[in-house]
Amino acid sequence: MPSAPRPLAPTYQQRTWTLPPDAVVHHGTVDDAADLLRGRTFTALTGAGISTDSGIPDYRSPDSPPRNPMTYEQFVGDEAFRRHYWARNHVGWQHVRRTRPNDGHRALAALEAAGIVRGVITQNVDLLHEDAGSRRVIDLHGRYDRVACLTCGRVISRARLAERLDALNPHFLDTVLAEGLTVSDIEVAPDADAVVEQTSHFVPAPCEFCGGVLKPEIVYFGETVPRERVERAYAMVDDADALVVAGTSLTVMSGLRFVRHAAKRGTPVVIINRGPTRGDPLATLKLDAGTTETLTTLAATLTSR
Ligand SMILES: [Zn+2]
Repeated sequence: MPSAPRPLAPTYQQRTWTLPPDAVVHHGTVDDAADLLRGRTFTALTGAGISTDSGIPDYRSPDSPPRNPMTYEQFVGDEAFRRHYWARNHVGWQHVRRTRPNDGHRALAALEAAGIVRGVITQNVDLLHEDAGSRRVIDLHGRYDRVACLTCGRVISRARLAERLDALNPHFLDTVLAEGLTVSDIEVAPDADAVVEQTSHFVPAPCEFCGGVLKPEIVYFGETVPRERVERAYAMVDDADALVVAGTSLTVMSGLRFVRHAAKRGTPVVIINRGPTRGDPLATLKLDAGTTETLTTLAATLTSR
């Protein structure tokens, strides 16, 4: 029996971790952060925490129920996993599509317009930075609105796929709604992976060009971020005087490596996150605070004369 294809050198893996007991963390206030950043440009690295105030749950926050995200290996190697994934995603992506950016996203866009933010590297796939007006954005883990064929490589929009899934599963969404669930009631993870139990009869759509397997243009657990994208992100970090991390616990190496890179170069690092992060011992300043209010205050302070 052939085994599922194994991705090479996965860099995007969920691990449990705890801050070492002897770790030294330099805690500070928003005023301290403004003092540090005044007169400096910075690049922002954002995660799920910046989108929670837009209604997208952060499944790694301390209050979140434990979840086991689907791995690349499961998705590629097992048709049942794919059917389950697409059924849930067919509900969940519509929720993500309806979300709007919040003041945290808007603050970073305003700071970019003012010439202070050099760009945003985001671990989110929700496109809310782009919606808020940020122009230089690297979607490190992909974007929810595109789907690619694993065989021929052709890319279609998620909206186009939704039409095909509706045609193949004419009563699916009606049934979900008839069970008393509204789309906003269903748990939605940041990858548009809503939880729906009844998925066994769902018919996924094959690639319309070659019949191959379709996969969202999202970097899965166990999958590697494309090298070219990582290099652009390093360049964006190097392009600024400081790095500001907002709304991520840096649990996965795909984000943590930029903090390590900046710290190694002597670039000041400010971390804004509720709860500890894996980057805390490397941070020049750690703010245990929400991203929306902190970034709003920072933007107002740094753009005033
Ligand atoms: Zn194809």
